[in-house]
Amino acid sequence: MEKRYRLNNGRAIRLVEGDITRIAADAIANAANSALAGGGGVDGAIHRAGGAEIMRELDEMRPRVGRVPAGQAVATGAGRLPAQYVFHAVGPVYRDGRHGEPEALASCYRVCLEMAEERGCRTVSFPAISTGVYGYPAEEAARIALREVRGFLESRAAGVQEVIFVQFGEAAYRVYERLLGESGLKEAQD
Ligand code: ADP
Repeated sequence: MEKRYRLNNGRAIRLVEGDITRIAADAIANAANSALAGGGGVDGAIHRAGGAEIMRELDEMRPRVGRVPAGQAVATGAGRLPAQYVFHAVGPVYRDGRHGEPEALASCYRVCLEMAEERGCRTVSFPAISTGVYGYPAEEAARIALREVRGFLESRAAGVQEVIFVQFGEAAYRVYERLLGESGLKEAQD
């Protein structure tokens, strides 16, 4: 399943159901943890598909960067993934939404988009950060992701042309599809 939505300035938001490691993009965002230690979920999938090189790079930077706080990210190469970079973003663990979780989640998307911009990336893909083990309610998280990405794509003059939301499973895909449908963005026919 897949849909593409076009912004007035020609940039696009693409919604795809599937495995983020199989979808080509200049940069792939990962839902990492503060220790950059790898884990289950999308993080595990990215390390498995990308190969040991990604963890080697993280091992090298770990002493320098220490624990990465929620809302921040670090960049590595992408190993065997169909991408140039992986941005390891640390999402917030969801408690009740009143402990800075919305701000930290919004920051994940913004920081990754800035990193993409700095590196000349034209396409960036995102999983639904924090909505797995970290427990963020899917729709609340999707509203934040869409607001940040759309705001970024609408305000910037150059650089990132397309953001791909890769949703794992039909239920997650349908949440984004509904919110994008309500957003007033036009579905692209190409
Ligand atoms: P977090 O710890 O940030 O919650 P998880 O990896 O547990 O991270 O889950 C984040 C989201 O990634 C969940 O919605 C999960 O369904 C999804 N996910 C898991 N594997 C993949 C994958 N291979 N591609 C895309 N999304 C995935």
